[in-house]
Amino acid sequence: MTDTTIFGKIIRREIPADIVFEDEHLIAFRDIAPSAPVHVLFVPKTPIATLDAACGEHAELLGRLMLAAADYARRAGFSEPGYRVVVNCNGDGGQTVFQLHLHLLAGAPLGGFGVAR
Ligand code: 5GP
Repeated sequence: MTDTTIFGKIIRREIPADIVFEDEHLIAFRDIAPSAPVHVLFVPKTPIATLDAACGEHAELLGRLMLAAADYARRAGFSEPGYRVVVNCNGDGGQTVFQLHLHLLAGAPLGGFGVAR
């Protein structure tokens, strides 16, 4: 299956992105419309539309995504001040790009979250 989303195009270098990390399993790049001073997206190279579509065979990959985000945050100096990791799922979750991804937000105290007001 080919990932036809904008993130698939970034993975295939069809469109540019500010890539901060990549290995054979995943890619990480800065969000084009950051919601915090540091906003990096961690995207598996395996096409998975949503977290809801993930299953047991993706368990290791999901772990790699989380650990890649934590490693990046540690190297960037955000372990002690702290950071947030978010996965949006489907419409009410605010997902707009249907290739599973993890948001890393850091660089300032982050506000609460919940129902949009
Ligand atoms: P979602 O709303 O699906 O959880 O997150 C999608 C994220 O992708 C948004 O924060 C949005 O700003 C970001 N995004 C959308 N298109 C592009 C793009 O072409 N390049 C980059 N770097 N980020 C994008």
